[in-house]
Amino acid sequence: MAGENPVFIPGPTNMPERVRRAIDIPSRDHRAPDFVAFLGPLLDDVKAVFKTRSAEILTFPASGTGGWEAAITNALSPGDKVLAARYGMFSQRWIDLCRHHGLDVEVLECPWGEGAPVARYGERLAADTGHEIKAVLVTHNETATGVVSDVGALRRAMDAAGHPAMLFVDCVSSLASMDFRMDEWGVDIAVSGSQKGFMLPAGMAILAVSPKAMAACESARSGRSFFDFRQMAGATGQGGYPYTPPLQLLAGLRESLDMLLEEGLENVFARHRHIAEGVRRAVDAWGLRLCAARPELYSDTVSTVMVPEGFDAEALTNHALQAYGVSFGIGLGETAGKAFRIGHLGMLSETLALSGLATIEMAMRDLDYPITLGSGVAAAQEHYRAGRRLARASAA
Ligand SMILES: *Cc1c(COP(=O)(O)O)cnc(C)c1O
Repeated sequence: MAGENPVFIPGPTNMPERVRRAIDIPSRDHRAPDFVAFLGPLLDDVKAVFKTRSAEILTFPASGTGGWEAAITNALSPGDKVLAARYGMFSQRWIDLCRHHGLDVEVLECPWGEGAPVARYGERLAADTGHEIKAVLVTHNETATGVVSDVGALRRAMDAAGHPAMLFVDCVSSLASMDFRMDEWGVDIAVSGSQKGFMLPAGMAILAVSPKAMAACESARSGRSFFDFRQMAGATGQGGYPYTPPLQLLAGLRESLDMLLEEGLENVFARHRHIAEGVRRAVDAWGLRLCAARPELYSDTVSTVMVPEGFDAEALTNHALQAYGVSFGIGLGETAGKAFRIGHLGMLSETLALSGLATIEMAMRDLDYPITLGSGVAAAQEHYRAGRRLARASAA
């Protein structure tokens, strides 16, 4: 019955029954008039999630990695200079991908557990008086370390430096779970995917592209065809796709957007914060620490928990799966073997979170971790109960 257990990995996330049923549709004709009527409102609702009015929403059959590739090949040319920071596995993989495409990537190295170094970005941009840097890359939520970065502050630093570079943001593991403000933060390309906050299977890269980035596509000289923004924007503008779209995923996206908008985006963010805080209380009660260096960096979608010296985190996640049939995220890169990750995004309730905490506690005890069985669960329970009491008090 292990397959019936929820996963606690930060993507692919658990799929709500409503979404699973919505995906189970027969094939339909993506060139028929009714598809046009379906697509327009769908893309408008995606805009609401990105908090943008002006950006173009483009979806490609790909995982999030394809979204990264689409962003840089459409708006940049080989040899272009871009400024990026490395503070985890995902920021690193985006840098690697840029280099494979011949971009000249200047990397701001940061310790894992830190977020985007806003001041250093600002200093570097201020020093670039010739405006050689064409784009600034940042990972909003570093899924490897469980760190969220302040994209609004980065935008202010870019403006203070008076630098015209475009701002590209990876929001794969934050969009639809944590606040993201495309327009307010002046983001030029935001890259997301279907299998995290949208609670869908993997297979669709979801991008928002500003008018400035769309204009940059005209002069960019990187090779692109499948991921061509102009071709995709032209087709979606007429309610279609240049090739066969993943129709079942689009049907699932319709349902997922309905769920998110029914709950209300701000309520979705508050739910994530509340549940994440319970997880953090549990980690604290175990006497363990997070990889994220400071509270303002704590991600509300994933917690990366450092295991005590002398313990192997990978043995723990393997044991949790074998013994209890529950998946937790492994440590990646620098934290491989040293940390495990609890994904807490998408379809998530207090009850679900408590079951994950109870399970990893059992697995830790089985492997002689110096924790008290029930301590983390109790700490989370207290936090969740306090939330109920507050809600009752304000209703009364
Ligand atoms: C999941 C994720 C991606 C995309 O990964 P894919 O496996 O290609 O979908 C990119 N960036 C971050 C921060 C992620 O969490």
